[in-house]
Amino acid sequence: MALIVQKYGGTSVGTVERIQAVADKIKATRDQGHDVVVVVSAMSGETNRLLALAKAIDDQALPAELDVLVSTGEQVTIALLAIALEKIHCPAQSFTGSQVKILTDSAFTKARIENIEVVGLRQTLAAGKVAVVAGFQGVDDQGRITTLGRGGSDTTGVALAAALKADECQIYTDVDGVYTTDPRVVSSARRLSTITFEEMLEMASLGSKVLQIRSVEFAGKYGVPLRVLSSFTEGPGTLITLDQGDVMEKPVISGIAFNREEAKLVVRGVPDVPGAAYRILGPIGEANVEVDVIVQNVGLDKTTDFTFTVHRNEFNKALNILEQVAKDVGAREVLGDDHIAKVSLVGVGMRSHAGVASRMFEALAKDNINIQMISTSEIKISVIIDERYLELAVRSLHAAFDLDKA
Ligand code: ASP
Ligand code: MG
Repeated sequence: MALIVQKYGGTSVGTVERIQAVADKIKATRDQGHDVVVVVSAMSGETNRLLALAKAIDDQALPAELDVLVSTGEQVTIALLAIALEKIHCPAQSFTGSQVKILTDSAFTKARIENIEVVGLRQTLAAGKVAVVAGFQGVDDQGRITTLGRGGSDTTGVALAAALKADECQIYTDVDGVYTTDPRVVSSARRLSTITFEEMLEMASLGSKVLQIRSVEFAGKYGVPLRVLSSFTEGPGTLITLDQGDVMEKPVISGIAFNREEAKLVVRGVPDVPGAAYRILGPIGEANVEVDVIVQNVGLDKTTDFTFTVHRNEFNKALNILEQVAKDVGAREVLGDDHIAKVSLVGVGMRSHAGVASRMFEALAKDNINIQMISTSEIKISVIIDERYLELAVRSLHAAFDLDKA
């Protein structure tokens, strides 16, 4: 007998019929002899609907009141699910975040969990009931309702699993797992049976948005085995775990992530003196613009070209700042390109395999794709290319690294 935390997202509880189907799934897990704590999101679209109501009155509404408002979405689904479970003779009890006492800080709309009281939940389980907990919400030390940021129910699920030392945290969603890359781009993309937390973080932050990133960080930190599965089809999904060692057994590359939301900025002819990089990126950082890939190279004329990428939404802001900065540092000119894309190979296996980069560059060269920038880490190699060649690049890399073969 195990203790399992199951989290069901908005589409999984989007209608009364779907809530009943979720109840059947939970009952099946109970019938196998497991204890179950369930976390639910609001019905799909509900959080947006509630936020729009507030906005119609005041688009500067107090964050604390927004939290009171949006937390009702999850309060509806915990009650309906508990009702559906009782109806099929599966004893259940619903809990709001504050009833559990999911204690958070007071950063309304983006609160962080500080502590979870598990006594009440354990008593509920000991009484043979399923505990149905509202995701996304908590309570601060003043008793005020807080929420954890959009998509925060994933984090509630993982945090509960960590606090209860659950055997597994299962995230039920509308996809049946984590794929080698986006199946809309590469039709032969394959579901991964396992992936490490580290890899998942790279895949998620690069655009494979299956889980809220914070929940993956949390699961990694507390070593909570996390499984992503579909609530609509049967199957084992993808298990996200700690790196199990024996890297030699692992595929070199686990997946390919990509991002079309970046833009590139180049400051050319920067005098090659200490402090130049700081004088360029200092003002960018002060303006709260986040920088991703950075490349600097010294030319024969003792000046450098300083190139970096930012989110596309911040492109104009960064460009304006650089026009001024370029004058200050005595640079020749500033150029920008907001039609670039980033493609990344991700895999803990590359730690122990040489030649991954050259294999990547060879594949891109065969398709005549020009690489504009390169950046690497222990488990990732990223290239910046022209946006027009993104899909071609992802497809040829997927084939070059045999990702379509199990
Ligand atoms: N209902 C919240 C949202 O839409 C939390 C969640 O679904 O995870 O962001
Ligand atoms: Mg979600």
